[in-house]
Amino acid sequence: MAKWVYGFGGGSADGSAEDRALLGGKGANLAEMSSLGLPVPPGFTITTEACTWFFANGNAYPEGLAAQVDAALARIGEIAGGRFGDAGDLLLVSVRSGSRASMPGMMDTVLNLGLNDETVAALAAGSADERFAQDSYRRFIQMYSNVVLGLDHEMFEEILEDARADRGYEQDTEMSADDWKGVISLYKGRIEEELGRPFPQDPKEQLWGAIGAVFSSWMNPRAVTYRRIHNISASWGTAVNVQAMVFGNMGETSATGVAFTRNPSTGEKALYGEFLVNAQGEDVVAGIRTPQNITEKARIEAGSDKPSLEKLMPQAFRELVSIADRLEGHYRDMQDLEFTVEKGKLWMLQTRSGKRTAKAALRIAVDMAGEGLISREEAVCRIDPASLDQLLHPTIDPKAERQVIGRGLPASPGAATGEIVFSPDEAEEMKRQGRAVILVRVETSPEDIHGMHAAEGILTTRGGMTSHAAVVARGMGKPCVSGAGSLRVDQKNGTLLAAGKTLRKGDVITIDGGAGQVLEGAVAMLRPELSGDFAAIMEWADGARRMKVRTNADTPADARVARSFGAEGIGLCRTEHMFFEGERILAMREMIVADTEEGRRAALAKLLPMQRGDFAELFEIMAGLPVTIRLLDPPLHEFLPHGEEEIAEVAAAMGISAEKLGQRTEALHEFNPMLGHRGCRLAISYPEIAEMQARAIFEAAAEAAKKTGDPVVPEIMVPLVGLKSELDFVKARIDQVAKTVMEETGTHIDYLVGTMIELPRAALRAREIAQAADFFSFGTNDLTQTTFGISRDDAANFLETYRLRGVIEQDPFVSLDLEGVGELVEMAATRGRETRPDLKLGICGEHGGDPASIAFCEKTGLDYVSCSPFRVPIARLAAAQAALGKG
Ligand code: PEP
Ligand code: MG
Repeated sequence: MAKWVYGFGGGSADGSAEDRALLGGKGANLAEMSSLGLPVPPGFTITTEACTWFFANGNAYPEGLAAQVDAALARIGEIAGGRFGDAGDLLLVSVRSGSRASMPGMMDTVLNLGLNDETVAALAAGSADERFAQDSYRRFIQMYSNVVLGLDHEMFEEILEDARADRGYEQDTEMSADDWKGVISLYKGRIEEELGRPFPQDPKEQLWGAIGAVFSSWMNPRAVTYRRIHNISASWGTAVNVQAMVFGNMGETSATGVAFTRNPSTGEKALYGEFLVNAQGEDVVAGIRTPQNITEKARIEAGSDKPSLEKLMPQAFRELVSIADRLEGHYRDMQDLEFTVEKGKLWMLQTRSGKRTAKAALRIAVDMAGEGLISREEAVCRIDPASLDQLLHPTIDPKAERQVIGRGLPASPGAATGEIVFSPDEAEEMKRQGRAVILVRVETSPEDIHGMHAAEGILTTRGGMTSHAAVVARGMGKPCVSGAGSLRVDQKNGTLLAAGKTLRKGDVITIDGGAGQVLEGAVAMLRPELSGDFAAIMEWADGARRMKVRTNADTPADARVARSFGAEGIGLCRTEHMFFEGERILAMREMIVADTEEGRRAALAKLLPMQRGDFAELFEIMAGLPVTIRLLDPPLHEFLPHGEEEIAEVAAAMGISAEKLGQRTEALHEFNPMLGHRGCRLAISYPEIAEMQARAIFEAAAEAAKKTGDPVVPEIMVPLVGLKSELDFVKARIDQVAKTVMEETGTHIDYLVGTMIELPRAALRAREIAQAADFFSFGTNDLTQTTFGISRDDAANFLETYRLRGVIEQDPFVSLDLEGVGELVEMAATRGRETRPDLKLGICGEHGGDPASIAFCEKTGLDYVSCSPFRVPIARLAAAQAALGKG
């Protein structure tokens, strides 16, 4: 019989941390903690396979599951005492989800399950605390009704709020047992009104309802959205964890909290976390009450007058510190812990690798390598390359004036400016219009994920450092200020009251997630300094990688930035971008409009010194590093004006008739310009263009070599080649110019001529093309376009729909389609090297900065990747991880 249920508790467990896929992260780690002998309430995990079975079989349960659950419940009773459903010998349980990847806040939890009108009395008697028992019961009804019965959470909050207001209370803690009884009776009445049947009293029925709800929540829209954003497969399913209840709400010696073994914002090595006295788990995350600090040090730093756990419950605190150390050493990573103190006794409810900011990730990896806990290679592999983007986020210029209109917690670092929006849907909509927004909420919930994703930053008026907003923002690498209590959000009227001002949707604010400040208007920003831990990891990464990392840079400014990020040369200089400025565009247009070769050559002669100057500057900046310059690529009409008015204006400036310019524009019109007269086709129609560019390159190389003393070896790249004869034609012109310039300058110049591989035909005929090419550079933007037959300029309109409907998993223009386009790349690499074993291979499409694509390039044996300047650090790290065999 298949095993669907894995038990844990009492110092042993059926599973272990290795069983993450089967038991989910939470279940596997509960099992591991049990086996380590840590204080874990006994329980069991229903496997993810049962969940998969559930969905494959019309939401039914597999045979044998019910009996295994019964046996496991009995076992919990043996360890914890009590019998589930027995009012005479009470055993209550919690039911929680837990998938393979941690999905914070995405799935639902039910606590205190097993309570009913009868057992609540038993709980009161057993705990000698009637108030506690009734509070637990009302929490259970509230959670169960929301999660399992699908009733609106707000409905209960309203009843509760009214009850508090009637009695003149501010806090739930002021409610007495009788007050709670009144609320419970109102809850039950309301549920019966809504559903036409009473709240279920049978504990077994409650349990199976909860199990079904956890499974079903795997498919709820917010879980689906989260999976989409984080590329988690729907096929994994979630496990269900059922565990004996321990109570953090049994009075002033009870508490519940979360802790990180190191600071998740900064990475500092110090236990860090928050707790609430006399509360249950969800209270901390929901941010309903402002939590207290765990350590005295953190309390003093935060300037809080509420006692720390260290002061309040010293014994539980000491045990927590020792368990935290032990778990971090055991898992060799920073842990995120959930715990409950029941009448002074500490219980561990969860451990997992903690989410952290990129800054913290770097510090933790570097520190742990220093402590000898992990190797330097492991440290390099611990950093998510894409997360480095967070560090490249701007911070507020210290010299800028700050108009502070509110303060909250520094929940996630970095600064962001944007227009205020109050709902996640608005955030998404405005982002679609290309506008930057700050999502402003009282507190966020998992339903807000899509809006948080769309926003530049998140501001909440309630909630702590571990509130939903804070945790999710840090995970996404977005700036967040949480718990800005002095601000008032009026959702209904769409206003934000701040420092006596009324701000509305669309008003611009800036948040500083590092300082916890809300500022009026836009504020000057600075790019961060990349030193310290960042530099250490980069250095270790550079020591581990095989592939070189170059940059795509068209201007000296780009090239300088890329060099500062560690680029080892230029893999693609798109020369056309040099033609758009000021006088250049004029000369370019003259060239295009000219009817004769002489006319074109005259215009090109004006462009020559400008190009030469640009190239010389690039060679100097890259001092001795390889620079690949691509000949003109786009269709010529891109340089001409469109629309009558603009044509007339330009014609006047050029001193020709609008009619002539209009005719030329018309003549250059193409139905499908991306498959039209572009790339090497231009050089074949107008060799004089390629000749001018080659001359500019060689003269600049001679000039730069003379100036710097370093030899310059330019790499000239011919775009959009499909036939060897195309490359032969263009290469012959380049070689001729090289010879002439060498004679003229009396300088010998080494140079390479190569081609881009951006057409399937080029990949197929790579053997013969390699006869004429010193290098191949994979132009995977065009290669993806031409392999799929999907226009790269129009794809966004429907590829997102493809992704949402599960037709494709990833946009192939973002992450290389390894199966199709990848096969062509592999084929071309192999065939090219058959002809020329020393053929230099690189990639310069957008994929050159995408970690998954970089891993593919490593496997395929490319010599380098080339990406935009700001992705250079990401590529360096991803290339190292690929070389170390990660992923
Ligand atoms: C490519 O096609 O991948 C490429 C790098 O060239 P471009 O994007 O300029 O067409
Ligand atoms: Mg291209």
